Amino acid sequence: MLIRGGTVITMTGPEAVYPDGVVAVEDGVIRYAGPRSGAPSEVLAPGWAGREIDATGRLVLPGLVNTHTHAAMVLLRGYADDMRLMEWLQTKIWPVEAALTPEDIYWGTALAAAESLLAGVTTFNDMYIFEEEAARAVEALGIRAVLCRGIIGSGPDFQSRVEEARALLERWHGGAGGRITTLLAPHAPYTVPPAELETIAGLAADWGVGIHIHLAETRDEIEILRKQYGKSPFEIAHEAGLTRHLVVAAHCVHATDRDIELFAQAPGGGVAHCPVSNLKLACGVAPILKWKAAGVSVGLGTDGAASANQLSLWGEMRLMALLQKNASGDPAAFTAYDAVYAATAGGAAVLGLQDRIGTLEPGKRADIILVNTSRPSLTPVHDPFSTLAYSTNPGDVETVLVDGRVVVEEGRLVTGDLAEIVAKAREQARALLARAAAARG
Ligand SMILES: [Zn+2]
Repeated sequence: MLIRGGTVITMTGPEAVYPDGVVAVEDGVIRYAGPRSGAPSEVLAPGWAGREIDATGRLVLPGLVNTHTHAAMVLLRGYADDMRLMEWLQTKIWPVEAALTPEDIYWGTALAAAESLLAGVTTFNDMYIFEEEAARAVEALGIRAVLCRGIIGSGPDFQSRVEEARALLERWHGGAGGRITTLLAPHAPYTVPPAELETIAGLAADWGVGIHIHLAETRDEIEILRKQYGKSPFEIAHEAGLTRHLVVAAHCVHATDRDIELFAQAPGGGVAHCPVSNLKLACGVAPILKWKAAGVSVGLGTDGAASANQLSLWGEMRLMALLQKNASGDPAAFTAYDAVYAATAGGAAVLGLQDRIGTLEPGKRADIILVNTSRPSLTPVHDPFSTLAYSTNPGDVETVLVDGRVVVEEGRLVTGDLAEIVAKAREQARALLARAAAARG
């Protein structure tokens, strides 16, 4: 396949912007991405490409990477807003989640995958339950995902969740043509005791996978852990051995310099920054400039749609930039390029997938999106990073490729029946809330 005529943005640096660029894709892999003048002559020869996409007037860039979500929570979108995190979890979310069925997870994840792809998000990192159903939805919809069985508690509950994580790993790690991978996902230090976190660290070594966890989301959490263990979430995670592995840590809002130093020792992973969710729950602003200065990779996440309400990263990019400018008192401290980087290459690095995705470079999987800049709100384009970070919305994404396969074309999902997915998800959500209400009596 040959994508030609558009402005190719490889995300290998702020200067790597090529008007009249070319991307050549062979067997799902990028063979060339850059200026037409530098393209190997054979890819431009008539007949080389089985298919050509005319990208004139489009920005061509890597697919966006959502580094933290709970995909099937889209079923609870708008169900309970405007509450404190602990109260929201305990009185609203956990009781309904107890009534979730595998079918809910399938249709919820299918809806999340459809919403994500239509918004240009080609990879998401999920933490939830019945993840084998999530895997089936990911396989069907053609998106890329890191799927993690969320693990909480201790004793037999902990054990059975670990066994589900093991089954997921055995069945789906490297599945769907390599689009699915998995991580071990202890929910957080306030829901998984230190001894169990240590067990997880041992399993990560045995299984050869990294960790996905929530860390330092709220001040309440910091206080709870300080009272119970006399330590910060980062100290607990570090002492349990988690930082010997790749760690994807969602939120990281409240961190001391010492916390950042400890976490920076992890051999991979980074911060999954979820600015919309953090502001919605009044958690505070993550010190992203400090994390970056410590050499920690930073990506963007939406968190679940029950808190963030949507799975698009465009609003997250915008908000990330605005927050860091204001937190530092310096509009130049965090740029449009920095925001687009976090949503692409930064996110790929956080998930440990930097060798596969995140930039348009030869040898990487062809996860590519085209943004149509002929829309009024994107006109004119003086600086493509400004257009992407500050002006683009999900509806401006026109074409999406995952592994070189077109999954969205002219703004329409081609890998699933969107009307059916929406109808099924709506019905599952209705039935779920009815079951939860019945269980409450
Ligand atoms: Zn979360």
